[in-house]
Amino acid sequence: MTRFIGSSQSSSVGRAESPGGESARNKSIATVFSTPPRAGENRVRERDGPAVIAGSRLLLLSSSAVYGVGYLDYAEPEIRDFFGPGVRRVTFVPYAMHDLDDYAGQARARFDAMGYALDSVHQAKDPAAAARGAEAVFVGGGNTFRLLERLQRTGLIAAIRERVAQGMPYMGASAGSNVACPTLKTTNDMPIVQPPSFEALNLVDFQISPHYQDPDPESAHMGETQEERIRQYLEENEGPVAGLREGAMLRIESGAIVLKGTAGARLFRRGDEPIEVEPVSDLTARLRRAR
Ligand code: ASP
Repeated sequence: MTRFIGSSQSSSVGRAESPGGESARNKSIATVFSTPPRAGENRVRERDGPAVIAGSRLLLLSSSAVYGVGYLDYAEPEIRDFFGPGVRRVTFVPYAMHDLDDYAGQARARFDAMGYALDSVHQAKDPAAAARGAEAVFVGGGNTFRLLERLQRTGLIAAIRERVAQGMPYMGASAGSNVACPTLKTTNDMPIVQPPSFEALNLVDFQISPHYQDPDPESAHMGETQEERIRQYLEENEGPVAGLREGAMLRIESGAIVLKGTAGARLFRRGDEPIEVEPVSDLTARLRRAR
């Protein structure tokens, strides 16, 4: 059974960093509704596993750049449309990279060129408070293990979930899209640091495999392809996986998941053959966890 938990008590939507006790905490302090949320109503939906935010507004890019054009160039029209006139300042999360000042500077210059001010959480005294006060959040790419470890350590998991439940736009690129999912298990990255848990923001209830690459039939390489790695994930885990090619993005609003951008995606589900989808497609039914 799916239950719906009101997000009016903003503290109720944060997830504890440790896996143990999280669902008990959510259950004990959240209001449980027996009806599904109406359009525009933000609630946290609780399934068997950790809570998933319903009514969230997300723009999840496979990559921040595509071959031949500059940082975020291909996505600019979609980013402007997604943020809309309501957003003037974007709060940036640079934690996937090592040189935080440099990365924030790069993002600031790009957002400045689009007409948005940008603050980086690493320059705030309290990163979680900065996220709680954000008009919109952008989580940049890099190493997903490093990003998740820092999100957990700084309390940003709970803070971002609270704001997303209140309708704040969340934009992620690559690792920043991966951490919007239930876990980091479909990252392509090496575990260069060890987060206490693989549990991520859980803003959606499917997985993203970013930078999706098709096997090269000419290649003599004998290591796993990305498709083989995703099939291995599905040998051990449930739930659909969207392999997003560079240029592809998912825009999620009012409960609808729409594939947009300049490239398509390959969708994987345990027990089924993968399917190809092209932009613009509504993937809401295909990426639903339960069928
Ligand atoms: N390292 C990628 C990024 O650019 C994430 C991934 O490939 O899983 O953020």
